[in-house]
Order: sequence, then structure tokens, then C-alpha cells
Amino acid sequence: MFENLQDRLGSVLKGLTGRGALSEADVSAALREVRRALLEADVALEVVRDFTAKVKEKAVGADVLKSIKPGQMVVKIVHDELVEMLGAEGVTIDLNAPSPVVIMMVGLQGSGKTTTTGKIAARLTNRDRKRVLMASLDTRRPAAQEQLKQIGEQTKVDTLPVIKGQDPVAIAKRAVQAAKLGGHDVVILDTAGRTHIDEPLMVEMADIRKVSNPHEILLVADSLTGQDAVNLARNFDSRVGITGLVLTRMDGDGRGGAALSMRAVTGKPIKLIGTGEKMDALEEFHPKRIADRILGMGDIVSLVEKAAETIDADKARAMAEKMAKGKFDLNDMAEQLKQMQNMGGMGGIMGMMPGMGGMKDKLAAAGMDDSVFKRQLAIISSMTRYERAHPDVLKNSRKKRIAAGSGTSAADINKLLKMHRQMADMMKAMGGKGKGKMKQMMSM
Ligand code: GDP
Ligand code: MG
Repeated sequence: MFENLQDRLGSVLKGLTGRGALSEADVSAALREVRRALLEADVALEVVRDFTAKVKEKAVGADVLKSIKPGQMVVKIVHDELVEMLGAEGVTIDLNAPSPVVIMMVGLQGSGKTTTTGKIAARLTNRDRKRVLMASLDTRRPAAQEQLKQIGEQTKVDTLPVIKGQDPVAIAKRAVQAAKLGGHDVVILDTAGRTHIDEPLMVEMADIRKVSNPHEILLVADSLTGQDAVNLARNFDSRVGITGLVLTRMDGDGRGGAALSMRAVTGKPIKLIGTGEKMDALEEFHPKRIADRILGMGDIVSLVEKAAETIDADKARAMAEKMAKGKFDLNDMAEQLKQMQNMGGMGGIMGMMPGMGGMKDKLAAAGMDDSVFKRQLAIISSMTRYERAHPDVLKNSRKKRIAAGSGTSAADINKLLKMHRQMADMMKAMGGKGKGKMKQMMSM
């Protein structure tokens, strides 16, 4: 597991308790850790340098929001800058050209060109109701044309029949011609790669481009590409002129640093990502998700944002301490319910915590969802201070009085008490783990 940037920065900036503006020293210390996190995520060195310089410029002197720590503020600035550099969301394949629209797939051998060709063809066929023709221009590997033919059979997309002995440029011409005659809307050219960039490859790509006049030229790259990503993207872009990027194997363990590297040196949008071997494993690009992945921090950033708006840090800290001691009475519960409402309810909170998605279902199964928050708050406010601090004293006569006062029933009160016990148990379990997620969350 990669160490969370948040934790790292926590220790770097532990000594900083002051509020106000971020100093140059604060930022430099934090950026050392950011640089390490980016390199670990396989972002190319030169891109890391540019990036941290940009962040530094923005961060020095920035105001630290009340109720969050300087380190968190730096993370937020880093994250925002990363999202901005990764580019806009929802930029997808452009088919706005006369038919047949030519899409040319380029990239190194094994990067996923043929697979992605099939995925895009299947999507355009099934979702967008386009008539698509796929053509393999890979004459170097005998199995390549057969591979595309099989993908065509599987996805029910037309493939250009193979004529033995034709070179890639001739096949490209024939493919465009066949698409015109066949009434296809789109023709996808799946080119051959090499294990590394060389002159013959670049010449071949440029020649194919010349005869087929593609509207889109997509560079397909493995998201695990490390420091080479810059070289790769720069070469393909300057020699062939790409219109967009497709990152494959995002289903693997890679942190996606290649996305930032390639985007940074070409300025071309990341249009799609591959998330598996199957033909439907193709997704839109979401810069925020990739930024989170590069930094290794789940959705902590949005939690910081919301916390900055809604949580009173001092109250939260006191709560975290109580929880750590295993104390959680109905006053605390009321406080929690109010904060949860402010933060978008259970779904909002649990959805933002890494690894807490399942918790929401569990709580819902226990009858705890947003619609009951209000009623529960009404019940608690009908109790005396003493009752809130000592839920054990709530026997029948008191329940009757509270039910009347809050316009609920004894059964509602029992539900509330049950939920309180469950929350108290949950909090105790989390507080007891020392660095439990809830405690971490509350201390923000
Ligand atoms: P090409 O040489 O660029 O045409 O690469 P291929 O399309 O033949 O893909 C090489 C291998 O990578 C194949 O085994 C694919 O199934 C696999 N592959 C392609 N895209 C993905 C992806 O997004 N995720 C995973 N896990 N495997 C992929
Ligand atoms: Mg191939």
C-alpha cells in the first residue's frame, strides 16, 4: 500500500499550528512530500518539477481555511492544480466530420490498441447506432489481423477482409474506400506498434495519416508507463499529431501518473480509459478520480472542502476525544445528526470516506437514513439534559412523556435508543483502533 499523502503531510506539518497564510517554508516542506508522492505514482520527473513549481506559486501566501490544517490546505491546492492540469471532463471522441469519419489508433506494441479499437467500435455501434468498419494495419504480426477479426465477430462489427501481401498504407486506403462504398459512418484504423519508438514506425504512421486523413488520432498508452511516457507522447504528437489520449489498464495497480505526464507534454485531452480486457471495459475520463488516485487519498479532498464549510473544528475535536474514550451520549448523537445533515446526510459522508461505502448500507439496514434524522433530533430535544447524558434512565414513563413532547411514539424512541447503542458501538470500535477513520474524519 502506498502511504497516504495526507498522513505524510500530517507529520511534516505537525509543528505548524498557526492559522493564517501559508509561508514559503510550510509550502516547501509540504511540496517535498508531494514530489515524492508524484514520483511514486510514476509521474515523469520533468512534469513533477513543473507541477510543483506551479503549485508553489499558488500556495505561498494562500489563506488557510479556518478549521483545517495547513497540510490539508496544501493537499487541496495540489489536488485542484492536478485536476486542472489533467484537463476537462467529458471530452470524448469527435465524430463531427463527413462520413466516413476516420479514427486512427497509434501506440506501442501491447499498449492495447487492438482491444481499444474493438471497445470503441462496440460502443459506437451499440450506444451511438453508428455503422463502423475496423481495419487492422498490423502486417508485422501474423496473428494481429486474426485478432481483430475475432473481436469483430464477437462484437458484431464489420472488419476489413485481409488481402495478403498488402502494406499498411495500402490497407488504410482500401479501408477508407471500403467504408465509403459500404456506407459506414466510422472507420477505425488499428495500426501496428513496436516495442519502442523508432524511425520506421514514425514514418509508417505519418504515411498512413497522409492517405487516410483521420479526424481523430488517438495515442493508446498503458497507464503503467513510467518515465517513458513523456518521450512516447512527445514523439507521437510531434511526428504524427495526436488528437487525444487513451489510457489502458486503469484496472491495474498503477497510480496513473502517465496520464499527467502525457497530458502535460502534449496538452491533448485524455478521452477514454480502459479498465479491463472485456469489450465493455471502456470509461469516460474523470480528472478528479485520477487526481485522487495519483495522490492516493480517496475523496479526502472533498471531505476537507465540506468540513471547511460546515464543521466547527473545536467541537469536532472534543467529540473525537470523547469517542476515543468510548463515551458517546445522546447529546453527542444530536450533534452528530446535525453535522451529518449539514454534510449531505449519511450517503454524503460515507461516500466520501475511502473504504466506507459499505457502511452506508449497513446503517440503512439498521433503519438509519436521512429521513429519520429530523424525527430523531425532535425526540432528543424533548429529553432533559440529564436524560441525554444518561440514556439508561429512559424507562416507560419517561418515554411516554418524550413521545408526547416530540409527537412520536414509544416505538420511535426505542428505535432511537437502539440506533444510539449501535452508533456508540461503532464509534467505540473505531475510536479504539486509534487511527480509526471516523476519528480521523472528526479531527479534521
Ligand atoms: P496492441 O498490441 O496495442 O494492439 O495491444 P492489445 O490490444 O493486443 O492488448 C494487449 C493485451 O492487453 C491484451 O491481452 C489485452 O487483453 C490487454 N488489455 C488491453 N486493454 C486492457 C485494459 O484496459 N485492461 C486490462 N487489464 N488489459 C487490457
Ligand atoms: Mg494490436
